[in-house]
Amino acid sequence: MTGMKGSEMTTVEAVPAEVDVAIVGAGMAGTTLATALGKAGRKVALIDPHRIHHDEFRAEKIGTDQIRLFEKLGLDKTIMHLVTPFDDIHVFRLGQLFARERRPEYAFSYGALINGLRDALPPQVPLTVGKVVEVSTGPDRQRLVLSDGSVIIARLLVVATGYGEAVRRAIGVERIEQSKAHSLSMGFDLAVSQLDCGFRAVTCYGRRASDRVAYISIFPLGDKMRANMFVYRTVADQWTRDFRADSQKMLCELMPEISAQCGNFALASPVEVRQVNLTTTQGHRRDGVVFIGDAFCTTCPTPGVGIGRVMIDVDQLHSVHIPRWLETPGMAADKIGTFYDDPVKVASDEAGMRVSVYAKRITTETGLEWRARRLRNNMARRLVIIGRKVRHLGLRREPGIA
Ligand SMILES: Cc1cc2nc3c(=O)[nH]c(=O)nc-3n(C[C@H](O)[C@H](O)[C@H](O)COP(=O)(O)OP(=O)(O)OC[C@H]3O[C@@H](n4cnc5c(N)ncnc54)[C@H](O)[C@@H]3O)c2cc1C
Repeated sequence: MTGMKGSEMTTVEAVPAEVDVAIVGAGMAGTTLATALGKAGRKVALIDPHRIHHDEFRAEKIGTDQIRLFEKLGLDKTIMHLVTPFDDIHVFRLGQLFARERRPEYAFSYGALINGLRDALPPQVPLTVGKVVEVSTGPDRQRLVLSDGSVIIARLLVVATGYGEAVRRAIGVERIEQSKAHSLSMGFDLAVSQLDCGFRAVTCYGRRASDRVAYISIFPLGDKMRANMFVYRTVADQWTRDFRADSQKMLCELMPEISAQCGNFALASPVEVRQVNLTTTQGHRRDGVVFIGDAFCTTCPTPGVGIGRVMIDVDQLHSVHIPRWLETPGMAADKIGTFYDDPVKVASDEAGMRVSVYAKRITTETGLEWRARRLRNNMARRLVIIGRKVRHLGLRREPGIA
């Protein structure tokens, strides 16, 4: 460690902490990986600049597939205390009730979920609060220097810094934008109470391609009704400015089919807005370091595949790759490449990117091919709606017939 004493320079050597795995970034990917590795007896350092994860607008619900991944890591009980479970989702398409889905979903506030996961870290894996100011990586040992001068030496460095760029840049790894300003996610609380809301949960899709609305999802979160809306706009669009200025009016116009049951879309919080880019990574095949979660690639929140992708990275690393890598000496790029080439990981990332692109094109594209696809999908949906109405009518007539 280098420090100043008067005009004289003094050098104090900090004793480095030696670990199997150093994880930079204690978000969803970093914290769950640290827990799994710690429970498996690995020596782990987990580093983040903040003890408490601030309450930012990110993923706010997951389904049973993702819960199964938490279960595999032994974290399902931890997260069950932090989520609001619900089912019976009314799905509206083409302005009408299309289906009632009984599958369970789980709502949460991202910051509270991450803080709950951090609180449940095994005692042998404390969270080191600090900023990484120096990184050097190599085929045998990785060296991190934190802003307080402490040094961590690890066999493997895991970068799980999400959207954070500092560590990626320090290592010289580039983010590639596949689709800039791909979509806009908006989150807000509704004023309607859970008792007064006509639905336990509702998903309502946009009606016209020109609206550029994927869908709104309204669900219980704690004692509030929360809304997530996904649109294909940019922050700078006039539409977005108008929405911020009078969200209630625009929501009532866009989705009149559900407005009365949602308290006419009176809002109880400001609208949080996040622009999302689709990104991948270049130059990541290096000695000693692996990139995971959003630090490796980002997909669109509309199809809700982000958390699943992150958890697949964590599961494959903890259950397959890291145990193998630590068995033999060295941590060269070819060893680490087995993770990037892992068919489970590759399939998960590719599917995430594919559905992100498809969801936008099927909602907004105006070319002949996409109009034809929309027409075909909407015809099939109309048939489902008619079938449901006919069945409903039949059921209502039944007592009379008997
Ligand atoms: C608005 C929005 C809505 C979303 N909705 C959904 C959804 O409905 N369903 C879904 O599945 N996914 C959704 N996602 C995606 C999902 O939230 C992410 O894929 C996931 O949270 C990424 O987790 P992560 O661990 O990679 O990153 P994060 O959880 O962001 O963790 C990154 C961590 O790194 C730390 N860090 C940053 N820089 C440094 C540094 N220099 N040194 C040390 N630490 C650092 C940060 O403090 C943070 O703790 C959404 C994303 C957004 C933006």
